[in-house]
Amino acid sequence: MTPSTPSVDRSLPSQADGARRTTGRLFIISAPSGAGKSTLCRAVRQRLPDLRYSISHTTRSPRGEEKNGIDYHFITQAAFRKGIHAERWAEWAEVHGNYYGTSAEFIDRALGEGCDVLLDIDVQGMEQILKRYPDSVTIFIMPPSLAVLRQRLQDRGTDSAASISERLDNAAEEIKRRKRYRHIVVNDRLEEAVEKLTAIVAAGRTGRFNTAGANLDRNK
Ligand code: ADP
Ligand code: 5GP
Repeated sequence: MTPSTPSVDRSLPSQADGARRTTGRLFIISAPSGAGKSTLCRAVRQRLPDLRYSISHTTRSPRGEEKNGIDYHFITQAAFRKGIHAERWAEWAEVHGNYYGTSAEFIDRALGEGCDVLLDIDVQGMEQILKRYPDSVTIFIMPPSLAVLRQRLQDRGTDSAASISERLDNAAEEIKRRKRYRHIVVNDRLEEAVEKLTAIVAAGRTGRFNTAGANLDRNK
């Protein structure tokens, strides 16, 4: 079952309300697979419609209802490798046996146009992006527990037992690295998690927290 998400809140600040910036800002969201990152990103994008979303490239096959060019750009391993040689990726990583990469051209064009961008990428990708774009805002989504995470992956019904088991093994490792993120949001009750995540992104857009060294001084 897909939980329902809150509707658009037009009272939230858009980028135009924020400090006068000539370039946009990146918002990086990571989470163990199944923690609800796609669900939360969809909800935040609904609430902040002028936030651009970086559609990643991946060599994995589409899952469930996923559509090429909307959820991911699904490409071959050969095309992905070609992209590495052509320096097409702002970051790339191997995750769960597949390759994933963020288009440098998309990011640089959006930032150049003064647009803020949401990235749904893993911890390895976050570290690469931070080196290249140090004032990015980093957010880690936590499942309430590993047992709930397993249940969500099983209920989603899109992954094989072997894939679920690999994702759970990786989750423990990913969770250990959560302290590298400035913000942590626990996705227990969906509505509450959407509120928190939207508030963090909205605050980052208006510069209501200091992002210089943001990823060094988190106090959680
Ligand atoms: P991810 O993108 O992190 O892999 P998804 O967004 O696909 O995760 O969520 C995994 C499953 O958990 C989906 O079936 C989704 O509907 C469900 N889900 C997400 N958030 C919640 C929540 N807060 N409570 C209950 N189920 C949730
Ligand atoms: P999934 O296959 O479940 O959609 O994603 C698996 C993992 O890959 C998730 O942790 C997701 O955040 C990550 N991911 C998706 N796109 C990218 C990307 O472009 N770069 C990196 N490094 N990770 C990505």
